[in-house]
Amino acid sequence: MILVLRRDITPEQLDHLVERVAELGFQTHISRGEHKTIVGIIGDDNKPQAETLAAIPGVESVLRVTKPYNLASREMHPADTIVEVRHVKVGGGHLAMIAGPCAVESREGLDRIAGFVKRAGANILRGGAFKPRTSPYSFQGLGEAGLQILREVGDEHGMPVVTEIMDPRQLELVLKYSDMAQVGARNMQNFDLLKEIGATKIPVLLKRGMSATVKDLLMSAEYILAGGNPNVILCERGVRSFEDSTRNMLDLSAVPNVKGISHLPIVVDPSHATGRPDLIPSMAMASVAAGADGVHIEVHDCPEKAMSDGPQAVLPDDYIALMKQLRILADVLHRQF
Ligand code: PEP
Ligand code: MN
Repeated sequence: MILVLRRDITPEQLDHLVERVAELGFQTHISRGEHKTIVGIIGDDNKPQAETLAAIPGVESVLRVTKPYNLASREMHPADTIVEVRHVKVGGGHLAMIAGPCAVESREGLDRIAGFVKRAGANILRGGAFKPRTSPYSFQGLGEAGLQILREVGDEHGMPVVTEIMDPRQLELVLKYSDMAQVGARNMQNFDLLKEIGATKIPVLLKRGMSATVKDLLMSAEYILAGGNPNVILCERGVRSFEDSTRNMLDLSAVPNVKGISHLPIVVDPSHATGRPDLIPSMAMASVAAGADGVHIEVHDCPEKAMSDGPQAVLPDDYIALMKQLRILADVLHRQF
C-alpha cells in the first residue's frame, strides 16, 4: 500500500500517521519526491484496510502496490536510486565500471591488474576471496588473506572494492575489508544471507540467479531492503538455457524490464553471461546502450595462469580498448563514469 500525502500535511500529522500505522502493525517508508511525498506501508499487503488508512489526517489517497516487491518497486520510489560505494555513485546516470580478476590470487598479481583497469577508467575493483566453485577440488579462494590484499590494493589505487560473500558467517570479514558485498548467482535466494546483509548498510551487488526470473531477483532485493539496507545494485549475469556455445544466455531485456518496474540500479556482467572474451566487448556496449548502470568485467593479464575463470578473462589491452568505446557511448547517452 502507498499513502499519497496532502501537500499541506503538518509535521504533527505526519508523526501521528507514522504512529497510527505502527499501531496497525506495519512499518512506514517515507519517500519525498519533487511533487509528492508518499508513504509506503510495509508488511503483508493483504492486511491493511484502505478505508482505515484513508481516514488518517493528511492522507490524500491510498494506492495498492501492484507488485509483491514493495520497496523495490518504482511505484513506491519513482526516482532512480543512486547507491554510493564509497565515493563512487551508481545509478541515476552514474555508471559503475567494475573490473578485476575473478579471484584474488596474489598481491603482485592483483596490483598489476588493478593498475591496468584503473588506468582504463574502472571505478570499482573486484576480486573474490571466497569462491563458489562447482567442484570442491577447485581453488576456493584465499579467504581473509585475499580480503586483506584486496583492501590494500584497492586503497593504493584509490578504488572501492567488491568481493563475494557466500555465507552469513563471512559477513564480519566482508564488512571489515570491503566496500560492497557481492551476492552471487548461487546465493541469490540464500534468504538467511540476504537477511543478515539487510541488517547492515553495506552496498550489495545482487546477482540474478541462473534460473531466477526478474520477479525472483526483485523479491530477493526486497529481503535486503526490508531489513533496512537501501543500498542494493542488481546485476544481470545471464541465465541457464539450452544454448551451449555461451556459458549462459544474457538476458539484456532484463535491463529496461527492471528499470520500468524498479528504482534500483542494475549493472550487467557480460563475463559470466557469455564466458567468452570475444563476446564481452559487444555485450558490454549493448548493456550500456540498453540502459545499464554499469558493467562488471573480469580482467586478467595472464588468463592461462588464472586460478578461476581464466578462459573468460579479458586481457588488459582489450579492456582498455573497450573502455574507450564505452566512454564515447556514455557521452552520447549523457551518462558518466
Ligand atoms: C563471480 O563474480 O566470480 C561469480 C562467481 O559470479 P556469478 O555468481 O554470477 O556466477
Ligand atoms: Mn568469476
